[in-house]
Amino acid sequence: MEKSEIYEKYWDIKLEKVKKALEKNNFTVFIASDAEAAGALIMQEIVPQIEGLKIASFGDSMTLRATGVLEAVKQLNGVEFIDPFPKGAPREEKVALRRRALLTDLFFTGSNALTEDGKLVNLDMDGNRIGGIACGPRNVILTIGRNKIVPDVERAMARIKEVAAPLNAIRHDSMKTPCQKTGECMDCRSPDRICNQWLITEKCYPPGRIRVVLINGEAGL
Ligand code: SF4
Repeated sequence: MEKSEIYEKYWDIKLEKVKKALEKNNFTVFIASDAEAAGALIMQEIVPQIEGLKIASFGDSMTLRATGVLEAVKQLNGVEFIDPFPKGAPREEKVALRRRALLTDLFFTGSNALTEDGKLVNLDMDGNRIGGIACGPRNVILTIGRNKIVPDVERAMARIKEVAAPLNAIRHDSMKTPCQKTGECMDCRSPDRICNQWLITEKCYPPGRIRVVLINGEAGL
């Protein structure tokens, strides 16, 4: 067996196990081969099932953007799309849009980490993303790359602070945090600190409210 086939088989087995663990925790789960396939799955199979879809929005996620779903949802007839990140808009306007995004019919985002026993772990700056995951939007769709899978909550939190948060700070170059220069968390007191609020989602409530699309490839930070 070629090395690539061995890895392929390993990830097929692993994703099936994580899917089962998530389902045990009342999430609805799908597996897609890559970000593009995840986008097609969401638009062709998941979104048409959502009853009474009139308003949709999202919390920022590189994985989600890679699926192309946001552009597709903007084109849906009869669906208002709230963009909570309009370029150049004043902060107050962005905050108002992020508040509206929490009362939508459908909310998209990603997850900073996912444990092998099916829990989601996230860390936010102002909470608009974890707010949408926890409560508010009637339906939530999460796109998560296999690189976000970790054994347990402890290692999820470590991954987020050691890897995802510094990378995210570097991604937003207008933010001024020490980790942008050092590449590691300094537990800063910066006004631009992006690590303020944790959310651990142990089970989906109500059951099925959160749909998880696992991507069988690297996606996001
Ligand atoms: S706490 Fe500060 S230094 Fe640490 S990762 Fe977050 S923003 Fe960077």
